[in-house]
Amino acid sequence: MKLFIVPLLLYALAATANTCDSGQRQSPIDITATARQKLPALTFDYRAAPLKIADDGHTVRVRFGNGSQLHIGNQRYTLQQFHFHTPGGDRIAGEEFPMAAHLLHKSQSGQLLALVVLLRVGAENPLLNSLLPLIPVKADGDHMPAGVMVDANGLLPASRGYYRYAGSLTASPCTEGVDWIVLKQPLELSAAQLAQYRKRFADNARAVQPVHQRIVLESL
Ligand SMILES: [Zn+2]
Repeated sequence: MKLFIVPLLLYALAATANTCDSGQRQSPIDITATARQKLPALTFDYRAAPLKIADDGHTVRVRFGNGSQLHIGNQRYTLQQFHFHTPGGDRIAGEEFPMAAHLLHKSQSGQLLALVVLLRVGAENPLLNSLLPLIPVKADGDHMPAGVMVDANGLLPASRGYYRYAGSLTASPCTEGVDWIVLKQPLELSAAQLAQYRKRFADNARAVQPVHQRIVLESL
């Protein structure tokens, strides 16, 4: 039995390392050259929901039910969860941001879409203000503090211009075929908020990956 299982496990590990190391459509990237064109508008229908917050061992994660949606053209995506990275992962023309929010969505057919909101140091961020004190003290699953609601609209900048590229999950197994949308306008968080987050989760972003043959679309 052992002889049979061990090679299978080794094979699985090798396959995983493969996509992360040699995939051609990996995230995040440094967005430099883009193809500017008319792209479908992002229409957000996010609704306040009871807060479901966890330390997942790598970041703070907030999970959603089926109430918040994003429409792009005639595609409909449901918000599954959002979480944060520091530094921000995706760069714009070489600029590295101190933080990013990743809002993960899924379509009815199972297509994954990551919406990236970059954050710069500046004014205090109201949503982080309410979330940071509620991060569970250890990685022990979802917590639902009584009576606390969360609204992902608080993570959206006023301007909805965006970049779009073919990307991947940023952690092993680095699965490709994930739609990446990076909003052009960053939000702000205060230096104190960044320090508070970094005290719990420092440097939990993947390094930028080669663009290879991909074309990054940019909305007009
Ligand atoms: Zn992420």
